[in-house]
Amino acid sequence: MIDFDPKVCNQCGKCCLSSVILDGEVKTINGLACRFLERENGHTRCSVYKNRFMKAPWCASVGEAYNQGLLPNDCPYVVDDPDYKGRTELLPIQNMLVLSKITVDRKRTKEFEL
Ligand code: SF4
Ligand code: SF4
Repeated sequence: MIDFDPKVCNQCGKCCLSSVILDGEVKTINGLACRFLERENGHTRCSVYKNRFMKAPWCASVGEAYNQGLLPNDCPYVVDDPDYKGRTELLPIQNMLVLSKITVDRKRTKEFEL
């Protein structure tokens, strides 16, 4: 049983970036994130953290993110698990293609580079 203690999160923000499934793998869309992700003092923060599941129904809990492969492999919750298949980055050309093909929901997302 994994302990999803919030103190373990290093606020990298990677799990709050948008993603697509490509060939069965979760791929991060670089440059697009949840609209509530903000930058602060070299870290990221969720501007609606306490009410995030009400304000952002698309937001996954850490447990859900874990189960759906939405955590990157360097996330502290999974970094010691060699079997965890987390999200990885698209190649730059793939990223450009994805961004040109998808309809971006601006009520949920915003441009955001990590
Ligand atoms: S990827 Fe992991 S460490 Fe980074 S914000 Fe998400 S839960 Fe926290
Ligand atoms: S609402 Fe959820 S996905 Fe959006 S920034 Fe906050 S924690 Fe991340």
